[in-house]
Amino acid sequence: MPSRAAKAPAAVEPFKAKVASWSEALAGRLARIGLHDELDCVLHLPMRYEDETRIVSLADARDGETVQIEAVVREHVIQYRPRRQLVVQVDDANARDADDAGLTLRFINFYGSQVKHFEPGSRLRIRGELRGGGFGHVFGREMIHPHYAVVRDDTPLPDRLTPVYPSGVGLGQVVLRRAISKALQSVKLDETVPAPWLARYRLPAIDAAIRLIHNPPPNVSQESLAARSHPAWQRIKFDELLAQQLSLAKAHAARRARTAPVLKTKGTLVARFLEQLPFTLTTAQTRVVREIEADLTRPHPMQRLLQGDVGSGKTVVAAVAALHAIDAGYQAVLMAPTEILAEQHFHKLAEWIAALDVPVAWLTGSLKKKQKAAARDAIESGIARLAIGTHALIQDDVRFERLGLAIVDEQHRFGVGQRLALRFKARDATAKFHREPHQLMMSATPIPRTLAMTYFADLEVSTIDMLPPGRRPIVTKLIEASRRDDVIERVRHALAEGRQVYWVCPLIEDPDAAAAEAGLLLQVKTVGRRPSASRTETLQLQNAIDTRDALALALPEFHVGLVHGRLSGIDKAAVMRDFNDCRVALLVATTVIEVGVDVPNASLMVIEHAERFGLAQLHQLRGRVGRGTADSVCILLFQPPLSLTAKERLKTMRETQDGFEIARKDLELRGPGEFLGHRQSGEALLRFADLQSDQELVDAAREAAVGMLADDPAAVDRHLQRWLRGGEELLKA
Ligand code: ADP
Ligand code: MG
Repeated sequence: MPSRAAKAPAAVEPFKAKVASWSEALAGRLARIGLHDELDCVLHLPMRYEDETRIVSLADARDGETVQIEAVVREHVIQYRPRRQLVVQVDDANARDADDAGLTLRFINFYGSQVKHFEPGSRLRIRGELRGGGFGHVFGREMIHPHYAVVRDDTPLPDRLTPVYPSGVGLGQVVLRRAISKALQSVKLDETVPAPWLARYRLPAIDAAIRLIHNPPPNVSQESLAARSHPAWQRIKFDELLAQQLSLAKAHAARRARTAPVLKTKGTLVARFLEQLPFTLTTAQTRVVREIEADLTRPHPMQRLLQGDVGSGKTVVAAVAALHAIDAGYQAVLMAPTEILAEQHFHKLAEWIAALDVPVAWLTGSLKKKQKAAARDAIESGIARLAIGTHALIQDDVRFERLGLAIVDEQHRFGVGQRLALRFKARDATAKFHREPHQLMMSATPIPRTLAMTYFADLEVSTIDMLPPGRRPIVTKLIEASRRDDVIERVRHALAEGRQVYWVCPLIEDPDAAAAEAGLLLQVKTVGRRPSASRTETLQLQNAIDTRDALALALPEFHVGLVHGRLSGIDKAAVMRDFNDCRVALLVATTVIEVGVDVPNASLMVIEHAERFGLAQLHQLRGRVGRGTADSVCILLFQPPLSLTAKERLKTMRETQDGFEIARKDLELRGPGEFLGHRQSGEALLRFADLQSDQELVDAAREAAVGMLADDPAAVDRHLQRWLRGGEELLKA
């Protein structure tokens, strides 16, 4: 479960947020696994159970099995060889035959105070894994570190399965169980879902469902609990999905209640633009343009995701949308995640709209102070109708005169924090003339429909499902790293024909950095941007420099350039311009070229250590070639031996070029949490339900959400408070 600990707990239920019976230490340990109050405890569900309801006889148990027996202590001794240990000889109380009764218990770690539990004649209930003594049972059977309790011969057995909870450091099952069981005694969950809906889907009451899952009675099928198909589990998953649907619907309703400028135009500017564009839009582009334009003429802020495979031509759609807003008398902003990409958009759009007389401002973090101030002035005074740049555009000191449309390219590359900042910026703009700008987000990572609908708050989706005409498929080859020299020959050949080539340096796996990754991710989540440099990046850089030097030496007749993340924005842009204008023939690059870079003359790409890259990343990288009309090739150099999933990834890359197919495969290999990444999903990840296997419940929840919103708004609020507990803001990002 993602750390809800990082968030201030919201006191939402009618009982106390601070639990009187918890010590400071216990509260701290519970908080670390996200349990801040009794309701949290009640909703903390077991991941499995142990069966302590039965006692078996040793004679019936197989070696390797985990069993519970009762036995009487014969003797105990503390041995010192091979190391200090407590050895207890016991006799099975249920043995039919004295020969089969003996069992040895071994404790390597034990307290002195424990020893008194093992006085001869003491009766124990013991649970552990049975091991066969070696040498044909010469040494008898034994258990190492079994659980045990001193009992009497009439001590009752539990009649319920014993829950095992997800836990944390320093928090044992016994303590956690006690806290949860106490919480269950003092909390009764009131029903938040109206009875007719429960009847319709044959779901049990929430309070009963929760109690059953914590303490299942003996007659409940263990399989249905393990598979989470038991009606009690169905109810939990339904509630969780319902909360998600309700919050999406509420976000949607809230948006409908806000106003945005109605961007009505005669379409003159867009028509002039399309006329002088060197190509015509594909039917898919025309369709999404229409979808977007329809939204722009409505009085509520558009929130639309434009997805299309790499190279499908999203930029020109963005340009049309921007011109539509500008024609209606408003400003538009286009924001990109990297300077390289922003710069490229700037040049491309400037070229496209040169004849239209639309003043464009350019703003990135690497501009000089004076230039920045000039850009800000142009934006604030309204002289600039279009602003292009990086997230410098959403900094506090940037004010728009009349912002009508905000476009975010490669939106998945922005952190949740930045996406929220953009929303707040949008609200800022509202303050001045009571209108919120429309928003268009673009992404080349196709999001499967079910995910899009459940993970992304209130987002309409437009899809460009075809590539511009004349594109030739990219041939993808897998080549072992040992044949690097052959590949260099191939590169020489392509360069000699006047083609341009990318050589992508591998991701470096730095063990130290990997260890820091957890902390790093947290940072990403809170500030929404990566720390400036890590050791990985430093290694990466060194590797890129070495590669450039080696290739320059091997190919002395060609100009080899180098671009990487640590170059200043100006230097990066200069290299990219050289490549764009063919002054650099071979470009050695780190993954900074992953997104958006568009140089149609480049038709060969080599990716070193391709096995280290994820599928989405490989697909993005490969999308840098195959943009012109020449036959393109992507060579994936790999270093055996390959892991199974690496093999699967490379095979997928060779077999398909379809971004949606690749995304499906990626989802299958990684699961939705990994697939979307923390940055993408915020904290919206489901804890219990699974979008793939619980599709029926997703449909039920969607239906119930509509009904509840119409009939019972108070129940909606109660339900959201219970399940979201203040996480709604992130869901909107
Ligand atoms: P992406 O969707 O990956 O952002 P781009 O917008 O960069 O793709 O477009 C890729 C290339 O295709 C660009 O060079 C662009 O000018 C060109 N392009 C876009 N639409 C068309 C079209 N309808 N016909 C021909 N070329 C197009
Ligand atoms: Mg793009």
